[in-house]
Amino acid sequence: MFEQLLGNDALKARLTASLSQNRPSHCYLLAGPTGSGKTTLARLLAAALVCEGAHPPCMTCRACRKVLDGIHPDVITVDSPDRKSVPVERVRALQADAYIRPNEGRRKVYVLPRAQDLTESAQNALLKLIEEPPAYAVFLLLADSPEKLLPTVQSRCQLLRLCPLPQATALSELARRYPQSDPGALRAAYRRSGGYLGAAAALLEADALAPETCKLVEALSGANPMALVTLLASLERRTREELKALFLQWRELLARALMARSGLEEGAEAARLAQRLSGPALARCLAAVEQALDAADANAGTGHLCGALAARLSDALWQS
Ligand SMILES: [Zn+2]
Repeated sequence: MFEQLLGNDALKARLTASLSQNRPSHCYLLAGPTGSGKTTLARLLAAALVCEGAHPPCMTCRACRKVLDGIHPDVITVDSPDRKSVPVERVRALQADAYIRPNEGRRKVYVLPRAQDLTESAQNALLKLIEEPPAYAVFLLLADSPEKLLPTVQSRCQLLRLCPLPQATALSELARRYPQSDPGALRAAYRRSGGYLGAAAALLEADALAPETCKLVEALSGANPMALVTLLASLERRTREELKALFLQWRELLARALMARSGLEEGAEAARLAQRLSGPALARCLAAVEQALDAADANAGTGHLCGALAARLSDALWQS
């Protein structure tokens, strides 16, 4: 039921048991370093809490699919993406919303992806809410380590601590995701990651990504059409083959970001895009890159390729 999260068997068994008895906690604290699977677990747990199937999360019912697409009206992410800390106003808005009954399901799930960045006053406001939550509300707090939250908040949460994966499990998954990487590189990434799959994937990605791809992520996640235009204008003098190699990398990254929106894949750059762009916007970006690849195959000039792609990517952002 929580297969998409690898390893962590004890944690998954505990959650499955409490969900099958229909007795979830009102507040979970998902703790583990970056790349340990917190986001994946939060997505699966949110799906499980609103699932309409017999074995939550079934991943196939209407509610589960909406959660995976990031469009379930009763699964609400509470964040301030443009700020270092999450201010108290954000929690006050959450408070007001929490007293409105769910739209569709029997529960309302609030996901706080950066709980450790809540200011102290925001944490105290949250504390009031999780001390006496509405019966249908569940809070999922994500943090690098539990100690980064006030002890009073910690004490109200059921702790779900993400564990490193066994080497064999992690290596076979990394080999599946990165078939082009040699086994030595996979083992090195596993060791450097401390055993966390997402962190290992991020290391492999960082080694493999072209600087232009990092700039693309920067421009798309900042919804910055000028940066897109500048980036693509700087590529106009590349050969068609160079552009194709780059666009292929972009296509793969956008496809991974779409998967990351379903909580099914991690990796720093893909996850960053998934966080900032909606599913439809990512799909439009992916279609734009595919169109550019088709045009490259049809021998379009490099100036035209870059200009058309810059325009289509900008459109993809603005439509969202
Ligand atoms: Zn379901």
